[in-house]
Amino acid sequence: MKVGVLALQGDVREHARALASFGAAVSAVRRPAELDAVDALVIPGGESTTMSKLAIEFGMLDPIRKRIAGGMPVYGSCAGMIMLADRVLDGRPDQQSFGGIDVTVRRNAFGRQVDSFEGAVVLTPFDEPFHAVFIRAPWVESVGPDVEALGRVTDGAAAGRIVAVRQGNLLATAFHPELTGDLRVHRYFVEMARAAVDG
Ligand code: GLN
Repeated sequence: MKVGVLALQGDVREHARALASFGAAVSAVRRPAELDAVDALVIPGGESTTMSKLAIEFGMLDPIRKRIAGGMPVYGSCAGMIMLADRVLDGRPDQQSFGGIDVTVRRNAFGRQVDSFEGAVVLTPFDEPFHAVFIRAPWVESVGPDVEALGRVTDGAAAGRIVAVRQGNLLATAFHPELTGDLRVHRYFVEMARAAVDG
Protein backbone atom coordinates (compact mmCIF):
# COMPACT_ATOMS: atom_id res chain seq x y z
CA MET A 1 0.00 0.00 0.00
CA LYS A 2 1.26 3.46 -0.90
CA VAL A 3 0.72 6.16 1.68
CA GLY A 4 1.40 9.79 0.85
CA VAL A 5 2.22 12.51 3.33
CA LEU A 6 0.94 15.91 2.25
CA ALA A 7 4.18 17.87 2.09
CA LEU A 8 3.04 21.44 1.53
CA GLN A 9 4.05 22.38 5.07
CA GLY A 10 4.39 20.83 8.52
CA ASP A 11 6.08 17.88 10.24
CA VAL A 12 6.16 15.61 7.20
CA ARG A 13 9.27 13.60 8.06
CA GLU A 14 8.03 12.41 11.45
CA HIS A 15 4.86 10.98 9.91
CA ALA A 16 6.79 9.36 7.06
CA ARG A 17 9.05 7.59 9.55
CA ALA A 18 6.11 6.34 11.62
CA LEU A 19 4.24 5.04 8.56
CA ALA A 20 7.30 3.32 7.08
CA SER A 21 7.75 1.37 10.32
CA PHE A 22 4.48 -0.45 9.49
CA GLY A 23 5.64 -1.46 6.01
CA ALA A 24 3.81 1.23 4.03
CA ALA A 25 5.53 2.65 0.95
CA VAL A 26 5.68 6.32 1.85
CA SER A 27 6.01 9.28 -0.51
CA ALA A 28 5.72 13.04 -0.27
CA VAL A 29 2.66 14.55 -1.97
CA ARG A 30 2.74 18.11 -3.28
CA ARG A 31 1.23 17.85 -6.76
CA PRO A 32 -1.93 16.28 -8.18
CA ALA A 33 0.10 13.59 -10.01
CA GLU A 34 1.74 12.60 -6.72
CA LEU A 35 -1.69 12.35 -5.12
CA ASP A 36 -2.87 10.09 -7.96
CA ALA A 37 -0.04 7.67 -7.11
CA VAL A 38 -1.05 7.01 -3.49
CA ASP A 39 -3.76 4.88 -1.89
CA ALA A 40 -3.99 6.84 1.35
CA LEU A 41 -2.86 10.18 2.70
CA VAL A 42 -1.61 11.70 5.95
CA ILE A 43 -1.99 15.42 6.59
CA PRO A 44 0.65 16.51 9.10
CA GLY A 45 0.61 19.04 11.89
CA GLY A 46 1.74 22.53 11.04
CA GLU A 47 -0.32 25.62 10.36
CA SER A 48 -3.69 25.16 8.72
CA THR A 49 -3.90 28.72 7.38
CA THR A 50 -0.59 28.24 5.52
CA MET A 51 -1.54 24.75 4.41
CA SER A 52 -4.83 26.06 3.06
CA LYS A 53 -3.06 28.80 1.13
CA LEU A 54 -0.48 26.41 -0.32
CA ALA A 55 -3.13 23.81 -1.18
CA ILE A 56 -4.86 26.44 -3.30
CA GLU A 57 -1.57 27.61 -4.89
CA PHE A 58 -0.48 24.04 -5.69
CA GLY A 59 -3.89 23.19 -7.16
CA MET A 60 -4.48 20.54 -4.51
CA LEU A 61 -7.75 21.66 -2.91
CA ASP A 62 -10.16 20.09 -5.39
CA PRO A 63 -8.08 16.96 -6.15
CA ILE A 64 -7.87 16.12 -2.44
CA ARG A 65 -11.58 16.87 -1.92
CA LYS A 66 -12.39 14.52 -4.80
CA ARG A 67 -10.24 11.70 -3.42
CA ILE A 68 -11.85 12.16 0.01
CA ALA A 69 -15.30 11.96 -1.58
CA GLY A 70 -14.11 8.82 -3.39
CA GLY A 71 -13.28 7.12 -0.09
CA MET A 72 -9.50 7.52 0.14
CA PRO A 73 -8.32 6.84 3.71
CA VAL A 74 -6.89 10.02 5.26
CA TYR A 75 -5.41 10.71 8.67
CA GLY A 76 -4.88 14.28 9.86
CA SER A 77 -3.03 15.35 13.02
CA CYS A 78 -3.54 18.81 14.54
CA ALA A 79 -3.50 21.20 11.55
CA GLY A 80 -4.41 18.04 9.57
CA MET A 81 -7.50 17.64 11.75
CA ILE A 82 -8.49 21.22 10.93
CA MET A 83 -8.01 20.52 7.22
CA LEU A 84 -10.35 17.50 7.46
CA ALA A 85 -13.07 19.33 9.41
CA ASP A 86 -16.23 20.46 7.64
CA ARG A 87 -16.41 23.55 9.87
CA VAL A 88 -13.61 25.63 11.45
CA LEU A 89 -14.07 28.17 14.27
CA ASP A 90 -11.48 30.89 14.89
CA GLY A 91 -10.05 30.34 11.44
CA ARG A 92 -8.93 33.08 9.09
CA PRO A 93 -11.77 34.36 6.90
CA ASP A 94 -10.13 33.04 3.73
CA GLN A 95 -9.12 29.71 5.26
CA GLN A 96 -10.32 26.62 3.39
CA SER A 97 -10.42 23.05 4.59
CA PHE A 98 -10.67 19.87 2.52
CA GLY A 99 -13.49 18.79 4.80
CA GLY A 100 -14.96 15.32 4.91
CA ILE A 101 -15.45 14.86 8.64
CA ASP A 102 -18.76 16.26 9.87
CA VAL A 103 -17.30 18.11 12.85
CA THR A 104 -16.83 21.67 14.02
CA VAL A 105 -13.29 22.26 15.29
CA ARG A 106 -11.98 25.28 17.15
CA ARG A 107 -8.45 26.38 16.28
CA ASN A 108 -5.98 27.07 19.10
CA ALA A 109 -8.66 25.87 21.49
CA PHE A 110 -6.46 25.06 24.48
CA GLY A 111 -5.92 28.76 25.09
CA ARG A 112 -3.99 31.37 23.22
CA GLN A 113 -1.52 31.82 26.08
CA VAL A 114 -0.79 28.11 26.29
CA ASP A 115 1.40 26.99 23.43
CA SER A 116 1.39 23.37 24.33
CA PHE A 117 -0.36 20.99 26.64
CA GLU A 118 0.42 17.38 27.45
CA GLY A 119 -2.02 14.99 28.96
CA ALA A 120 -3.64 11.60 28.91
CA VAL A 121 -6.23 10.80 26.30
CA VAL A 122 -8.43 7.75 26.44
CA LEU A 123 -8.75 6.33 22.94
CA THR A 124 -11.49 3.75 22.47
CA PRO A 125 -9.47 1.48 20.12
CA PHE A 126 -6.67 1.02 22.67
CA ASP A 127 -6.49 -0.57 26.13
CA GLU A 128 -4.00 1.90 27.61
CA PRO A 129 -4.38 5.71 27.67
CA PHE A 130 -2.34 7.68 25.18
CA HIS A 131 0.12 10.32 26.36
CA ALA A 132 -0.80 13.13 23.99
CA VAL A 133 1.15 16.24 23.01
CA PHE A 134 -0.95 19.20 21.90
CA ILE A 135 0.75 22.18 20.23
CA ARG A 136 -1.55 25.16 19.62
CA ALA A 137 -4.06 22.45 19.01
CA PRO A 138 -7.71 22.48 18.02
CA TRP A 139 -10.41 20.52 19.77
CA VAL A 140 -13.69 19.23 18.42
CA GLU A 141 -16.64 21.35 19.52
CA SER A 142 -19.39 19.25 18.00
CA VAL A 143 -19.78 16.10 15.97
CA GLY A 144 -22.35 15.05 13.40
CA PRO A 145 -24.33 11.80 13.68
CA ASP A 146 -21.94 9.71 11.58
CA VAL A 147 -18.81 10.71 13.47
CA GLU A 148 -17.29 8.47 16.09
CA ALA A 149 -15.61 10.33 18.98
CA LEU A 150 -12.57 8.09 19.50
CA GLY A 151 -10.77 10.03 22.19
CA ARG A 152 -11.20 12.56 24.95
CA VAL A 153 -8.86 14.44 27.24
CA THR A 154 -9.02 12.97 30.73
CA ASP A 155 -7.55 15.73 32.91
CA GLY A 156 -7.06 19.46 33.34
CA ALA A 157 -9.28 22.29 32.16
CA ALA A 158 -9.91 20.54 28.84
CA ALA A 159 -11.13 17.29 30.44
CA GLY A 160 -13.89 15.71 28.40
CA ARG A 161 -13.00 17.51 25.18
CA ILE A 162 -13.07 15.38 22.05
CA VAL A 163 -9.62 15.22 20.47
CA ALA A 164 -9.82 12.18 18.18
CA VAL A 165 -12.53 11.35 15.67
CA ARG A 166 -13.27 8.94 12.87
CA GLN A 167 -15.84 9.06 10.10
CA GLY A 168 -15.61 6.18 7.65
CA ASN A 169 -12.10 6.19 6.18
CA LEU A 170 -11.18 9.54 7.72
CA LEU A 171 -9.30 9.75 11.01
CA ALA A 172 -8.14 12.85 12.87
CA THR A 173 -6.37 13.66 16.12
CA ALA A 174 -5.84 17.09 17.68
CA PHE A 175 -2.53 15.84 19.10
CA HIS A 176 0.75 14.73 17.51
CA PRO A 177 1.44 11.00 17.91
CA GLU A 178 4.23 11.37 15.34
CA LEU A 179 6.27 13.32 17.91
CA THR A 180 6.16 10.97 20.89
CA GLY A 181 7.22 7.54 19.66
CA ASP A 182 3.90 5.92 20.61
CA LEU A 183 2.87 4.66 17.20
CA ARG A 184 -0.49 3.10 18.03
CA VAL A 185 -2.43 5.75 16.11
CA HIS A 186 -0.28 5.25 13.00
CA ARG A 187 -0.65 1.47 13.27
CA TYR A 188 -4.42 1.92 13.62
CA PHE A 189 -4.48 4.14 10.51
CA VAL A 190 -2.33 1.81 8.41
CA GLU A 191 -4.58 -1.14 9.35
CA MET A 192 -7.70 0.91 8.64
CA ALA A 193 -6.30 2.02 5.28
CA ARG A 194 -5.20 -1.51 4.33
CA ALA A 195 -8.71 -2.80 5.08
CA ALA A 196 -10.20 -0.04 2.89
CA VAL A 197 -7.72 -0.46 0.03
CA ASP A 198 -7.66 -4.28 -0.04
CA GLY A 199 -11.44 -4.45 0.38
N1 GLN B 1 -2.69 26.08 15.37
C1 GLN B 1 -2.37 25.38 14.16
C2 GLN B 1 -3.41 25.65 13.08
O1 GLN B 1 -4.34 26.33 13.29
C3 GLN B 1 -2.24 23.89 14.36
C4 GLN B 1 -1.03 23.60 15.20
C5 GLN B 1 -0.38 22.27 14.93
O2 GLN B 1 -0.60 21.63 13.90
N2 GLN B 1 0.50 21.91 15.81
O3 GLN B 1 -3.27 25.15 12.02
